[in-house]
Amino acid sequence: MARYAEKRYSQRMSWVDPVIDEIKTRFEKEISAGKTLIIRDEKTLSGRVHVGSLRGVAIHGLISEVLTQQGIKNEFLFELNDFDPMDGLPVNIDPSYQQYMGLPLFKVPAHEAGAENYPMVFGHEFEKVTQALGFPIKFYTVKPLYLEGKFNDVIRQALDNADKIRKIYKEVSGGGKPDDWYPLNVICENCGKVGTTQVTSWDGTNVTYECKKLLVKWAQGCEHKGTISPFDGRAKLPWKVEWPAKWKVMNVNIEGAGKDHSAAGGSRQIGARIVKDVFNYPNPFDIPYEFFNLAGKKMSASKGLGASAKEVSDLLPPKLLKLLMIRKQPNHPIDFDPEGNTIPNLFDEYDRLSDHYFKRHPKPEQQFARTFALAQIDTTHAPKDLWQMRFTTLSFVVQMPHLNLIEEAEKLKGSKLTNDEIDALNERALYVKKWLDQYAAPEYTFTIQNGVPEGFTISDMQKVALSALAEKFASTEWEGGKIQEAIHAVKTETGVEPKELFQPLYQLFLGRNSGPQVGWFLSTFAKEDVINRLKSATR
Ligand SMILES: [Zn+2]
Repeated sequence: MARYAEKRYSQRMSWVDPVIDEIKTRFEKEISAGKTLIIRDEKTLSGRVHVGSLRGVAIHGLISEVLTQQGIKNEFLFELNDFDPMDGLPVNIDPSYQQYMGLPLFKVPAHEAGAENYPMVFGHEFEKVTQALGFPIKFYTVKPLYLEGKFNDVIRQALDNADKIRKIYKEVSGGGKPDDWYPLNVICENCGKVGTTQVTSWDGTNVTYECKKLLVKWAQGCEHKGTISPFDGRAKLPWKVEWPAKWKVMNVNIEGAGKDHSAAGGSRQIGARIVKDVFNYPNPFDIPYEFFNLAGKKMSASKGLGASAKEVSDLLPPKLLKLLMIRKQPNHPIDFDPEGNTIPNLFDEYDRLSDHYFKRHPKPEQQFARTFALAQIDTTHAPKDLWQMRFTTLSFVVQMPHLNLIEEAEKLKGSKLTNDEIDALNERALYVKKWLDQYAAPEYTFTIQNGVPEGFTISDMQKVALSALAEKFASTEWEGGKIQEAIHAVKTETGVEPKELFQPLYQLFLGRNSGPQVGWFLSTFAKEDVINRLKSATR
């Protein structure tokens, strides 16, 4: 018993572990029967996919990875929704695309080469971003499923139970639908739009519909009236009914949803009722999750540039992007400010977690080690223990054209880098440079001072310490560790506070109060220059 409890504790280290326990309890029968659990998520491809969608990918993806690690068969399906009506024009899309408003997205032509239609330009971009994160995702589009008739049964059930669905809307959300409303959008046979039609009757075989001029604000209907079969891709369910219909059609067991859908009376609750009462299918296991906030504000994909999954993913190595997405519990928001400290802090956090994982930390904690292991792109192998250059140090080296990155790294490490370490270092350097070029605040920009900076002042005590240092340096072997020893010796001899000694050293060379590790930092300058600078500063 004790051993069992200990084992449970040792696995319970990230938010995902208790979630997995709940999933195992709920689907005990399915799991022991060897059934494959279906995990699902989706995104409507109405524009570039917003970075917030990566949170859903990461939550579902991590659940899939951990289930697999525990020998539980599962599949993570991600739907690229290409059948919703085009109901908005993203800011960077040519205004001529206004003519396609109201059409099913798959009917809108591609605005860039390399994709079969408009939505899949965004779909392929998003696929690439998620592939880098290593999650075992099976992508699918929804249009072919309608065309193949996979939705025929649920369409029939929805139409037969239109009154029940209207009642559920009213009971759950308070806002009702008129008594003559049917849960179906027909593709108009005349103008091809799906966003503008309204079904007026259903006789068990065909629906009668009208393409209304003013049904929605974003598109105009052609006023055509018709009677057709609603099956085999001629019509689609509206979103709040389609969502639970998809759970049944795709045999979904697990599907979380963002905060915007998860509120009381929201679409997730409506879906939970419809799936049970109309489609006779159990409500999937839910994981409600919070927003991803860019620069403190809730982002919206329609607001355009800078907030797409692609743009944010370009700022971080994949495992740091994965860490960003999985480190917080789903019910906590993720705040991301590319111009603030988020990125440097994320690199530092990764290194700290690795200290816990590899037990370099004096008190290694399992939950941190667990998070580190889960943030790896390949979670099937144990991560390698790599020497990494700290973010601040690296941001200094890449700004100093006279420094060789690998050489400096080997000085700091105290030995040769392995090939994996060189790859990791080069990868980091690439992202650090990109960040410095595009987003970094001035405090991260280093400018080497050519002489004692203007306005440089120190106390008498500091003067004594710096002179002593100049003298000591004359006989110091010019190497980071030895320089560090010399500084500490002077600190002890003169009794000056560490801060009182370090700050003027950074001031003299960088014109600021802090910088990378001081011994190594001074070693990157010529010994004579350092001694001369100290002498002129204390004269
Ligand atoms: Zn029409």
